[in-house]
Formats: sequence, C-alpha cells, structure tokens
Amino acid sequence: MELYDVHTHQIFLEDNDDPYHSCILDVYPLEFEVAKEAYDRHAFSCGIHPWYSEDSENQMKYLSEIASDSRIVAIGETGIDKLRGPSFDIQIPVFRKHVELSEKLRKPLIIHCVKAWDDLVRVRQEMNPAQPWIIHGYRSNPENTKRLVREGFMFSIGDKVNVDSLPLIPIDSLFCETDEDEMDIREVYLQAAQALNMEYEDFADKIAQNVHRVFPSLEPPKPFDPEELENEAED
Ligand SMILES: [Zn+2]
Repeated sequence: MELYDVHTHQIFLEDNDDPYHSCILDVYPLEFEVAKEAYDRHAFSCGIHPWYSEDSENQMKYLSEIASDSRIVAIGETGIDKLRGPSFDIQIPVFRKHVELSEKLRKPLIIHCVKAWDDLVRVRQEMNPAQPWIIHGYRSNPENTKRLVREGFMFSIGDKVNVDSLPLIPIDSLFCETDEDEMDIREVYLQAAQALNMEYEDFADKIAQNVHRVFPSLEPPKPFDPEELENEAED
C-alpha cells in the first residue's frame, strides 16, 4: 500500500524520515530553493495563495522562472476566496496567471476555493484547461459536488470531509491531504475509506493509481506493510 499526501504545508521530521508516504509540499516561490534541499524525497507545489495575491507581480515573475523545475509537480495552491484576501479584481487575474503557467508547463493546478464556486466554474469554462484542476480541502455540499464533477474538477480531501458529498465523487478523481493539520495521512485515508465503505487497502490502491496518473514524477514511497514493521520491531 502506497500512501500519498498531495497537499501539505509542513513535513514533520518523522514524516520526512518515514519512507511509507510521499508528499507534495506546498511552498512559496521564495522558499523553494531551500525546501528542495531539505526534503530530497518529496515533491513540491508552488504558487501564490489568493490571500496574498495583492502586489504579487514580482513573486509571479519569479514563480514562472522556477516552475519548470522537475521537483515542482503542480502549480498552486492558487485560487479564489470570498472571505479573505484582496478583492476578486485582484484575486482572479492572479489565479488566471497560474492557470496559464499550469497549461504552458503541463503541470496540474492545486486550487483553494472558498465561497467562490460560480467564479471558479466560470474561469474554468473560459480557459478550458487541459491540465487537471484539483480542489484541495474539499468539503462542499452534494449539490455543488455534482456540478463540479460535471465540470471536470478533481478533489483532494483532508480531515474534514462531507460524508454526503464524498460518494458523489468518482474514485478516479480523488486524492488525500493533510494541509495544515497536524495529523497522520493514514488517518485521512482511514476516515475516507470508512465513509466510502471501502477496505483501507483498496481505497489506498485507487488513490495511488490516481497519483501515478496525474503526478507521474512523484517518487513512490516504500509500500506500507504493517507485518514487516512488526517483524522489524521484533528483530
Ligand atoms: Zn493549503
């Protein structure tokens, strides 16, 4: 069983040593050079969060310089947030720049969206992207979920899931994440598998297939085998 955390803001030291899961660590453009030395086994997503999209021209320029680095496997997190950050007149153009970069470099987009679903769908329809768009921390209602599935979005879920929406998401459009939570990615997998009435291993295999397909350059972790771990402890 391979475990993946496709969106996290921190890798705890033990996680970095833990060979059983691989992360996509979200970093700001200016953090990337240091982070890529510190975490040699994990991959990165790089972008400008919508909260901080004001006066981001220089950061955006720097991002477009570094984003072709093979260790950066996704663009973002980027997006639109109604509750926090500058006005949409600022947020949406910055988001669109991320979309252009994602398309140009053929790297998926990691999206933060809060109460801006109409705008998000509109931008997607206007830009008609070829790259996967993954909405992270997804927990919206069933009605909205049906619409976003129809529009072709993918979804990453964390600690807080909407158990009514989760079964509406095609399993080949699903990922798991810890985001800013100090929890084990295994807990996220376990909770989601239970909500979907699936065996933990089967669920993890499906998610691993999605990761292999969408992030082919992400290094597979060592397959997790609880028995092997127990044997090691006994040695
Ligand atoms: Zn995040």
